[in-house]
Amino acid sequence: MIRINEHYLKLTASYLFADIARRVQKFQADNPDKKIIKLGIGDVTLPLPAVCVEAMHRAVDEMADEQTFRGYGPEQGYEFLREKIAENDFQQQGAEISADEIFISDGAKCDTGNFQELFTNDIKVAVPDPVYPVYVDTNVMAGRTGGFSNGRYEGLIYLEALPENNFIPELPQEPVDLIYLCYPNNPTGVGITREELKKWVDYALDNKSLILFDAAYEAFIRDPQMPHSIFEIPGAREVAVEFRSYSKTAGFTGTRCAYTIVPKDCAAWDKQENRISLHDLWNRRHSTKFNGVSYPVQRAAEAVYSLEGQKQVRDNIDYYLNNARVIRQEMQKLGFSCTGGQNSPYIWIKSGSDSWSLFDSLLNSAGVVCTPGTGFGLRGEGFIRLSAFNSLENVQEAMHRIAGAL
Ligand code: PLP
Repeated sequence: MIRINEHYLKLTASYLFADIARRVQKFQADNPDKKIIKLGIGDVTLPLPAVCVEAMHRAVDEMADEQTFRGYGPEQGYEFLREKIAENDFQQQGAEISADEIFISDGAKCDTGNFQELFTNDIKVAVPDPVYPVYVDTNVMAGRTGGFSNGRYEGLIYLEALPENNFIPELPQEPVDLIYLCYPNNPTGVGITREELKKWVDYALDNKSLILFDAAYEAFIRDPQMPHSIFEIPGAREVAVEFRSYSKTAGFTGTRCAYTIVPKDCAAWDKQENRISLHDLWNRRHSTKFNGVSYPVQRAAEAVYSLEGQKQVRDNIDYYLNNARVIRQEMQKLGFSCTGGQNSPYIWIKSGSDSWSLFDSLLNSAGVVCTPGTGFGLRGEGFIRLSAFNSLENVQEAMHRIAGAL
């Protein structure tokens, strides 16, 4: 008899997006003429930078010609892209990362979700609260947790990001083995300074733990105090893996290209306490289960590093950051306490009531959709997330309506 992995049954069905959709649908049915403005989603709205489109077109033409056609590429990604990443995203920023420590993939979601496969099931896992849900759910699927009760999974260590700690969690009170960090953060929008990040790296070095550092929103950092990579912190090469993505950087959410850095100094231990290279293990896993990102997409990602590409990408991010500035400023004027939106596309707003009440009030009185903080964990209650991914006109209109309604 075919049996299922029962750990999947522990997953709390995500009613969040279904619930949002149901409420939005009802509002639209009741108000057929009202244009709804969506500031809830984490998906980009600007098209691909022109340099990426041109590079992709050229690559498609190469694929159409017998002389230049390419079949399977290297699972780890083409050298032309890995070299550009190592040089531009790391070496020029003072982080010592070489091209062969970079694994190209089709998304930071898959990589942040899959990396835990390399570890045994009895490790202690720490996740932030609120959190990007992928880190939690993939550990539940793997069987590293007990059941779900009172908004949390038994067995996970929750690192609380609260107004009292400026949304940067304290170090765990007990030793943990695997730590998920995400900066600039989804959903709180806060960034981390070098000093704060160093505490985590030092903790990991002291406890032989590993940090999975999700830097999917790195391109939004404008504050010079904020590191762009965990590898700018001394010692991080031994205890951290970093995830990056072109999704938000260059509008690749529908095009799919990302990368993961697994330094050769990074290790975990087997039962006999032998040091095992995580680089080698991930290489084994990646080349067994993944067959590479398509050639035209990798050429498009490469174009991001041209002079013109850097300008186009920066212009797009500046556009979203300006939206974020408008949202933050207007919500603050209305008396809401806000974080994020300065080195991030997300603004985390204290709702003054429960998350769903403010959601309903923004929808019903202003026709604006946000994301209730409860979708990101227990400590998301009492907050909503607004996203800067929309047109400036829509953002201004949304803020105008909210100001009128509240
Ligand atoms: N990591 C975080 C924190 C995210 O918010 C997202 C997407 O919203 C991702 C990863 C997914 O990135 P990708 O599109 O590369 O899979």
